[in-house]
Amino acid sequence: MEDARVSYDKAVEELRLREYPMLRDTTYLDHAGTTLYAKSLIERFSNDMITNLYGNPHSASNASQLTTRRIEDVRLRLLSLFKADPADFDVVFVANATAGIKLVMEALRDQEEGYWYGYHRDAHTSVIGVREAATRHRCFTTDAEVDQWVEEVEGKLGDRLGLFAYPAQSNMNGRRLPLDWVRRIRMRKQGSVYTLLDAAALVSTSPLDLSDASCAPDFTVLSLYKVFGFPDLGALIIRKAAGSVFDKRRYFGGGTVEMVCMKEQWHAKKAALHERLEDGTLPIHSIMALDAAMSVHQELYRSLDEISRHTSFLALKLYDDLKSLKHANGTSVCRIYNDKAAMYGDSATQGPVVAFNLRNPCGGWVSNAEVEKLAAVRNFQLRTGGLCNPGGVASSLDLAPWEMKENFSAGQRCGNDNDIIRAKPTGMIRVSLGAMSTLKDVTSFADFICEFFVEDTPPPLTPPVVSLGTEPPTHSRLHVQSLAVYPIKSCGAFSVPPGVAWEVRREGLAWDREWCLVHQGTGVALSQKRYSKMALIRPSIDLEEGVLRVQLTGILRDTTFANEISVPLSADPRLFTEESMYKDTSAQVCGDQIQAKTYRSSRISDFFSQALGVACHLARFPAVGNGSGPLACARHSKPHLQKKDMSSRTRIPGAFPETIPAMPGTTVSKPILLSNESPILTISRSSLNRLNELIKAEGGKAAQAEVFRANIVVAENPHYPPGAEQPYAEDDWRYLQIGQQYFELLGPCRRCQMICVDQQTAERNQEPFVTLSKTRRFDGRVHFGEHTSLLARDDLQSPSAQNPTIMVGDNVRTYFDEEIHDDDTLRALVS
Ligand SMILES: *Cc1c(COP(=O)(O)O)cnc(C)c1O
Repeated sequence: MEDARVSYDKAVEELRLREYPMLRDTTYLDHAGTTLYAKSLIERFSNDMITNLYGNPHSASNASQLTTRRIEDVRLRLLSLFKADPADFDVVFVANATAGIKLVMEALRDQEEGYWYGYHRDAHTSVIGVREAATRHRCFTTDAEVDQWVEEVEGKLGDRLGLFAYPAQSNMNGRRLPLDWVRRIRMRKQGSVYTLLDAAALVSTSPLDLSDASCAPDFTVLSLYKVFGFPDLGALIIRKAAGSVFDKRRYFGGGTVEMVCMKEQWHAKKAALHERLEDGTLPIHSIMALDAAMSVHQELYRSLDEISRHTSFLALKLYDDLKSLKHANGTSVCRIYNDKAAMYGDSATQGPVVAFNLRNPCGGWVSNAEVEKLAAVRNFQLRTGGLCNPGGVASSLDLAPWEMKENFSAGQRCGNDNDIIRAKPTGMIRVSLGAMSTLKDVTSFADFICEFFVEDTPPPLTPPVVSLGTEPPTHSRLHVQSLAVYPIKSCGAFSVPPGVAWEVRREGLAWDREWCLVHQGTGVALSQKRYSKMALIRPSIDLEEGVLRVQLTGILRDTTFANEISVPLSADPRLFTEESMYKDTSAQVCGDQIQAKTYRSSRISDFFSQALGVACHLARFPAVGNGSGPLACARHSKPHLQKKDMSSRTRIPGAFPETIPAMPGTTVSKPILLSNESPILTISRSSLNRLNELIKAEGGKAAQAEVFRANIVVAENPHYPPGAEQPYAEDDWRYLQIGQQYFELLGPCRRCQMICVDQQTAERNQEPFVTLSKTRRFDGRVHFGEHTSLLARDDLQSPSAQNPTIMVGDNVRTYFDEEIHDDDTLRALVS
């Protein structure tokens, strides 16, 4: 095994030297190579600065003339690096690639008809930003969409100009996109659509050939510091045939005009494109440094072609090494986000970049913040997070726009520790290779991942239930008959559709009591007890569209301007009034002060106010992220539990290698008497059936599960014979296992007359309260249903702990008090 590896490495090394003979000169094979490059470059530049006197251009002095001459030379030299003929192209020096993109955007924005803008999903943030000034824009989410659009006979643009922009290489995963799009767009769109190629990532490790101007992009932007390290300079290469687009540019700056009249609005622009576009004094010393950089770069690394071969080879090795890493249980360690259309080792489709995330042996995600910290200690320079590539990252990580906004609202920011939300990573790890990277860099990085993130002893296999010595879970007597959430407190129920795994958190089922209606005067949350018609307001959660939809039913229909409105699920702060508006009269839910956020749209407020006939606002409880922090405060109407749970919510799921064990003694609350509600309400179908039999025997109307605000309805499995029902067995339940999750029952739920509001008609009855009081009264209190809460688990690394979910149809196992005598049995249960 060891031998095979050594000989593989040797073969690799030989192949590399054959491919890249200049590396035989080992002076710059390691990090000393980077130092040598930096030293040579700075020395050459400093020598130039010491020996020559450069003046500000635009005057007749020798110093000024020298500057002008040198800059013209550097311009030419830069163009020739890309085989661009100065007869066909001009180069404009800018601060960075983004500034080049902005120059093009401004020229288009100043067109009378505005412009159409198309961009590829893999675009850098700076390229996406161009859409904000466009009259119309379109994001192309696949290559096929681009191909199809290219072939369309476009008539829709009218007089308007168009611009299509894309990256030559994705700055997310290094995928290289088809350069041929440029030629095809020019041919098919007959000049009505310009092309902008973002080559900022590409040219640091690849040549770019602009020798055939007819196939070359109209605008090409570069980050020169990404190629040479120094100076901090960017460039915009313009195909002269497209230069007229800048004629409409409205601004002029110093150095760009021949003459300006003051009394009349007249000016004459300079002739050459770069003269007209380089506002103010050029970064002259940076341009001199660029000359030095190009010389040293060529001496040490020879050409972009050689760098391309070298880095392409290293990237293939890195990809293969990372891909082959496995945990002892055989699962893959790296989830690599390579594009289907690209292949490592093929420099036409793939650059030397690997983007990935790490998984633990249970399939849970490893926090990138942890990876980054360890990488820093081991001196690897890598990047994590959103990588300035929102489209690529969102599609690779399967994040819908609402999820991204929701994560944002929950406090997630690029680069902070809170990077796994809802068991999904919010960013990725990116490793890039360059001219100075070596084979040793690659192998030592793979070794680093292996050392810290590969689990080589399989985790012990102890099914938790075995230790309890009870019957195997196969003959489950009970199952989940239905699941419901009440997105707006005291309004109608939303039934979780069968087959949908619904997220459950310590604070309850996802989206349950996320919103409420508050009185405009008092700030007090409205409830069905007083406003029974709230039952006819039916919210539903649409995760596809990312909206909360609210429908009016029954007698509320046609009471207002619309029978339906929708609100984004993301807690977008722009929708809310300033929190301070309700500071004095903060929302009151069941007597507790809650800092809710109120929606400011009058359309939303009118909808609810007109329907209910009371001036109210829609409000939302502060979002609770996966982590802790100031936002993880009171939500729902269970402030008592919330406070209690804070300590167990401060853990980062998937944190590796240090996981903080969840101690049953600290995370499981002992039975508590709740003056209020709990995260989840569980009821039993058998109990409800028994209750309804009694009600019907008295000639009353059967009650639905929703009147009890039940979240989970547990019923006997259908294959159990009828008559095997055990009504009120829940009185003795202590814990429940539902699917893969464990729950603690906190105690029975006290009932009031609110259960008498018919949820279909909003009429008040006497039942089921009357019958319930006759049959289920203990110590003067009427009980029905059980307060329930999710138990935190020991094995935080597993996906079912990182993203706990339950489903309609899940098997339910019950545990009674006598089965759980001590913390050890409990630990065995939840670990
Ligand atoms: C770095 C980069 C940019 C932004 O370049 P700046 O020089 O920072 O403006 C744009 N696009 C791609 C693909 C990049 O890699």
